[in-house]
Amino acid sequence: MNLRLNAAVRKRRARFVVVCLTASAVLLSSRAMAKNAATCTPGTKLRLSAPESSQGSLLLIVVTSTKPLAEVQGDWGGRSVPIWQEVARERQRKGLLAVDLEKAPGDYELKVTGQTAGGEEMSCSAIVAVRKGLFATEKLQVGKEFVEPSPEQIKRADEERQKLRNIFERVTPERLWDGKFRVPLDGVTTGANFGRRRILNGTPGSPHGGVDLPGTTGTPVHAAQRGRVALAEELFFSGNTVVVDHGLGIYTFYGHLSEIDVKAGDALEPGAVLGKVGATGRVTGPHLHWGLTVDRARVNPLLLVKLLSSPSSEEARKKSSRPGTN
Ligand SMILES: [Zn+2]
Repeated sequence: MNLRLNAAVRKRRARFVVVCLTASAVLLSSRAMAKNAATCTPGTKLRLSAPESSQGSLLLIVVTSTKPLAEVQGDWGGRSVPIWQEVARERQRKGLLAVDLEKAPGDYELKVTGQTAGGEEMSCSAIVAVRKGLFATEKLQVGKEFVEPSPEQIKRADEERQKLRNIFERVTPERLWDGKFRVPLDGVTTGANFGRRRILNGTPGSPHGGVDLPGTTGTPVHAAQRGRVALAEELFFSGNTVVVDHGLGIYTFYGHLSEIDVKAGDALEPGAVLGKVGATGRVTGPHLHWGLTVDRARVNPLLLVKLLSSPSSEEARKKSSRPGTN
């Protein structure tokens, strides 16, 4: 979401692309192996996709056991962690550790607990460090009409923020997605501005909670994966907006659409067109604002595309039924 600002801001945008790419390169680098190895009950192992995390990042958790697993839950600093089983993987569970954009840096304990199919208790625990995110901060002086919305606009924006919060708090217990997540625009692989902080006339605004993907008005916007439409309406800041519930507390957000092609409650297949790129809401020009929340934590959606590279159940089934492969 961009406030409607002056040309000086637009000139600075090129710099943010560079800053944001630099930041994600750091997030994705696999420096030093886990300093804080997990402690598990015998026969169980826990691996993380990176040894530490940073604000706005996402880690993949893989739990493996020598015995088939039944119930498995995850907890990270008092928040539940989405955990699921992929097809024909009785001895493995995957999960996502999501670090909110504004989570205080420090050490947090990840706990995974459950039972094997035979009824034995299993558990793992690991300390995961959260580092400060590397985000750009921009200080600007702008006309006060840009930073001082009317009382009616403030009321509306507050109500909409609460509405979104209520949606993100609901955890659909089933996993609705299956397989890889995709970037919602064809041919686009990177986005800018994730986590950027903007200080307008000395007042800090909230950090930018998604990535801005380049696109011209009318470009089709695809659902990142299978899910159910949780919201499809016009909002004050993000204009025409669609929120898709993928299950297990995972939601994707699509803002500034010129046109919405779905309605709340619709079931979407992976890649379904949910709307078109536009410049509605508080923006400088057409682009797609794409957001991701995992159990209420605002994280960089591009990391989900990179981390969940497993094929869908259907693809896996075909592969496992091929003679000579296992
Ligand atoms: Zn945006």
